[in-house]
Amino acid sequence: MQNQTLVQYFHWYYNEKDNLWTKIAKEAENLANLGITKLWIPPAFKGADGVHAQGYDTYDLYDLGEFDQKNSVATKYGTKEELLTAIKALQQNHIEVIADVVFNHKAGGDELENIPVRKVDPENRNQFISEIFEIAAWTKFTFPGRKGTYSDFTWDFQCFSGTDWAEDLKETGIYSIQNQYGDKWENVPSTEHGNFDYLMCNDIDFRNLAVKEELKKWAKWFYDTCKIDGFRLDAVKHISPGFVIEWIDFVKAECSENLFFVSENWTIENVGELQGYIETTEGRTQLFDSMLHHQFYLASIEGNTYNLSKIFDDTLVQVNPLLAVTFVDNHDSQPMQALQSYVDFWFRPLAYAMILLREQGIPCIFFPDLYGADYEDNETPVTLAALPELMLLLKARRYFAYGLQRDYLDHPNCIGWTREGDVAFENSGLAVLLSNGEAGTKKMEVGQHFAGKTFIDSLNYRAEEIVIGEDGFADFYCNAGSVSVWILK
Ligand code: CA
Repeated sequence: MQNQTLVQYFHWYYNEKDNLWTKIAKEAENLANLGITKLWIPPAFKGADGVHAQGYDTYDLYDLGEFDQKNSVATKYGTKEELLTAIKALQQNHIEVIADVVFNHKAGGDELENIPVRKVDPENRNQFISEIFEIAAWTKFTFPGRKGTYSDFTWDFQCFSGTDWAEDLKETGIYSIQNQYGDKWENVPSTEHGNFDYLMCNDIDFRNLAVKEELKKWAKWFYDTCKIDGFRLDAVKHISPGFVIEWIDFVKAECSENLFFVSENWTIENVGELQGYIETTEGRTQLFDSMLHHQFYLASIEGNTYNLSKIFDDTLVQVNPLLAVTFVDNHDSQPMQALQSYVDFWFRPLAYAMILLREQGIPCIFFPDLYGADYEDNETPVTLAALPELMLLLKARRYFAYGLQRDYLDHPNCIGWTREGDVAFENSGLAVLLSNGEAGTKKMEVGQHFAGKTFIDSLNYRAEEIVIGEDGFADFYCNAGSVSVWILK
């Protein structure tokens, strides 16, 4: 089977002339030709910020750019019709569509309610810092623009465990909502701040059975409407894992057994948090390897003092390769975003070689590396250049990165690996060498079936031709602070 390659087809500041759904429809064929097999779309439903919403401020899951709500019919990315056209274009080109879904919170409530709350200490959310009192909060969602189409479910404070704005007091804070399902937070994977159930906006309370049923009903409707191929679950470390398990099992049973799931459980400190989540959910979902991203980031700023031989230590792709989705950057790590940690440009080809050309993990490439990005935030202009090497690395992944892998992760400044090739892919097999210091050379084995054959650098950084020895070994080369990908001439 062709190597799987995922693309995150947006970034936080997407601002091209075509709306995103239109761009996808136009680019679907090109993406297939690049070897893309799965495409992650941003949240497709209406956010509280209407046409300006990136989609993570979920307002109405049933409004895919169809209803006049939040001052617009379309979402930032286009109309429902344009979304369905984009999905069809992708699937006609054999690219699966992975839909982003935000279950942790809702924003932009339609009506105020007077609700009983207790304030908590933001640093220790298990600690109440007030008695019960009432605030006026935007916790009632009636979706007046949709008028009950697809679902007549309305949300009120019984559906939420917390909120952050008291309209009557004009006061921010973290308010624990005292509803009939409990006076405390739910148990969630993250224990940062004591308990990290509450992230933002109105926090959904999964102890309310009607809420769980509504989110399952929505999933069936969304699947039947869009016929997507998988889901990307946002912010699962803030969500009761019991709900995630129940929801995935429901979706697989009622929609399709073959759906792909990948979840965001961000951590840069402890791979145990990722392993723990996999154990809790019994392997139902892939996870993004934020640990590896962080190593790429450190390597890119530390230069030749970073020990490359340790770069995969304590990453998800090392401890659980089958459930790791590897990436270099995403919409949270890009400049001006909350988790800003953009891998420096010199290191990006090296990082991409490490996710695209190895056996372990499903790699996810990032939109700005394909197209570049120009944007401004807080009066700071940002330019992210496209990565010319990415096309060549994608090609190497698609045609050559197959077969047995031999690792040479044996030097702090120069590491490499080879792939032996697979008869199913003609002329496949390769050797990769990369350095964060001086120009490098390393003797590596590609296999005796290549004896006497000539290899060249597909990235064209090195001009020499390398002839493989009778024993299947050869000396391979790379430039200083660079990567070379050697393939059959
Ligand atoms: Ca939560």
